[in-house]
Amino acid sequence: MEVTAQTLRVSDVLAPVTTLGPGRRLGVWVQGCPLTCAGCMSRHTWDPRGGRDVDVERLAALWRRGLADGYDGLTVSGGEPLEQPRALAALLDAVDRVRHEAGRTDADVLVYTGWEDAEIAASPRAAAALARADAVITGRYRAGEPTRLVWRGSANQRLIPRTPLGHRRYGPHLRRLTDRPELQIRVTDTAVHIIGVPRTGDLSALERDLATRGVTFQENSWRP
Ligand code: SF4
Repeated sequence: MEVTAQTLRVSDVLAPVTTLGPGRRLGVWVQGCPLTCAGCMSRHTWDPRGGRDVDVERLAALWRRGLADGYDGLTVSGGEPLEQPRALAALLDAVDRVRHEAGRTDADVLVYTGWEDAEIAASPRAAAALARADAVITGRYRAGEPTRLVWRGSANQRLIPRTPLGHRRYGPHLRRLTDRPELQIRVTDTAVHIIGVPRTGDLSALERDLATRGVTFQENSWRP
């Protein structure tokens, strides 16, 4: 469900994010994903009627503030960003404009998508939407293919630099393995947000650990 090219249906916007790409980043999670990967940790982002509409220029203003604060990049995740190709293109156009205006062309844009490379190549709208992305991480999440590759949830997912900046920044990380998952935990009065890519069993372990401290979940986003 795409409202207008200038409005993105969003699940969450958080900053600084340090676990989905290099450095300190603005994180935008879009709302709506029809791919229904088994084991997805973000089932709350599936329903396209959930979340809220956010004007692209409002997100661009957050990006401008982040750049002034020294942020290293923007990560768009989801949900499925390519379900809103016109809005995604408008967002990345605005983001590119702002980084040039701010003299911060060193700040990169990373987009996660569950689409496979061949699906992107076969869709002119998807390819156009990603035109300003410096790097993409592509492919469905497959719970049966665990990986230690940084920033990826399963071994099939590919990190693909698309621009000279993307090659400089992500080239050293293409095959980099991590010893432990990089996760940020953000706690509010009503929710625990887990930001990053957990390994198999990490979320259940976290749930058990929190239970020993008296914190139990009424519902969570990774269980049907
Ligand atoms: S892992 Fe990503 S692509 Fe797969 S269902 Fe979840 S949000 Fe959609």
